[in-house]
Amino acid sequence: MEECTKCGKPFKVSEHNLIMPGTKEKEPINCPYCNHTVDKRTSNGWWDTSKLSDKEIEEYLKKKKGE
Ligand SMILES: [Zn+2]
Repeated sequence: MEECTKCGKPFKVSEHNLIMPGTKEKEPINCPYCNHTVDKRTSNGWWDTSKLSDKEIEEYLKKKKGE
């Protein structure tokens, strides 16, 4: 789970690897809410980000507060 450094919302990141051996390049991780580039990480493919549901966001924030 990642958190956007701009809008502060949590989102999921998954890596899509290409089958062809590629050059390892830094690929951007973009916030699915505001499109801000949160980070750049080395990947053989690219990073896919997806929004959480309102309920998942609520639970994430609750957990974050409680710990
Ligand atoms: Zn954002």
